[in-house]
Amino acid sequence: MKITGIEIKQYLLPLNPPFKAAWDPEPRKKFATTIVYVHTDEGITGVGSGDLMMGLEGHEHLFIGQDPFAIERHAQVIENIDFHYGRCWPLDLAIWDLMGKATGQPVYKLLGGKTNKLLAYASTGEIVTPEERAERALRFVDQGFKAMKIRFHHKDVKDDIKVVEAVRKAVGDKLEIMVDANQGWKMPWDVERTWDLKMALQVAQELEKLNVFWLEEPLPSHQFGLMAKLRDKVDIRIAGGEMNRNWYDFREMDKVQSLDVYQPDVALAGGITKVKKIADLVQGSGAWFSPHTWTNGIGLLANLHLAVGVSNCPYLEFPYDPPAWSNERRDYVQKEKLMIDSEGYLVAPEMPGLGIVLDEEALKKYEINHFYVGESNKTYQTT
Ligand SMILES: [Mg+2]
Repeated sequence: MKITGIEIKQYLLPLNPPFKAAWDPEPRKKFATTIVYVHTDEGITGVGSGDLMMGLEGHEHLFIGQDPFAIERHAQVIENIDFHYGRCWPLDLAIWDLMGKATGQPVYKLLGGKTNKLLAYASTGEIVTPEERAERALRFVDQGFKAMKIRFHHKDVKDDIKVVEAVRKAVGDKLEIMVDANQGWKMPWDVERTWDLKMALQVAQELEKLNVFWLEEPLPSHQFGLMAKLRDKVDIRIAGGEMNRNWYDFREMDKVQSLDVYQPDVALAGGITKVKKIADLVQGSGAWFSPHTWTNGIGLLANLHLAVGVSNCPYLEFPYDPPAWSNERRDYVQKEKLMIDSEGYLVAPEMPGLGIVLDEEALKKYEINHFYVGESNKTYQTT
């Protein structure tokens, strides 16, 4: 089998009302999705998504004519592109989708198939009042969730802690509660100060009292040593690494044991191919691997396959904070909107590949851009 063409299409969903992401000072009025399609001479097409694919332009020929099963070679090329230009890891996801389709197996089985389902934690995205957050938490309990994550980002962290207190009071021990401080990285326009070790320590100690399951990104993502110091001083689990970009960062974090829970995302930091190696590395040192999944429904699916394939962590992130971040918005290019079962599990699809079923009508309606490179590699068209 040979790769004969790579197609990239971009889609844009208007968000009205906007989504006020806790980690972004600017409300989001639209939601862009880029899908990469990898075509072959056997008529099978692999599909990937989850990042913008900036940097592939001009490098498509490095993949055309190649055997899709040479995934280690392709991941190396994508890593080289990542170094010079941008993250094109959705291409790795599309090739895994292709390998699954070609072999008639769901990707999670190709990866090891430890299980086919994981408990999903409802990962919320907005800052709301303690009362509102507690009400939404009770709805999660009714839906079957066993865990949820609360975002911090009030001006005064005491107000964030009040939200956790209200949720704990409302749900008792019916939900595990994770907290995401989102101090690891910033949007380009955000120049606010991040937490230091003392601040992170104070917050972690407060959250311990509320029996919080993990504290995520309490420090900037390059502060490997400080994270390790924090981890030594507290009992609460420390999570992070969602935007660390490559295996080498995780090797350094693993050396100093920065974290209890490592969260590289297959759509952003190495594809399935490289993130599997990170999972092996950190799990070998006794830590957990639980990927970040906050991109779109296809990115979530790809992370689900790797997580059920190899993860030792009981939970997987499920971006979900309706009405502002519903599964309809998150999965708008997909026919089936991903949801947990009544017991709180997210189950990997049994279809060959990643199990993405695209909604052709939505694709037509929201498409804004189209690039294609065929076998001749001489044409580059945009519409
Ligand atoms: Mg996070």
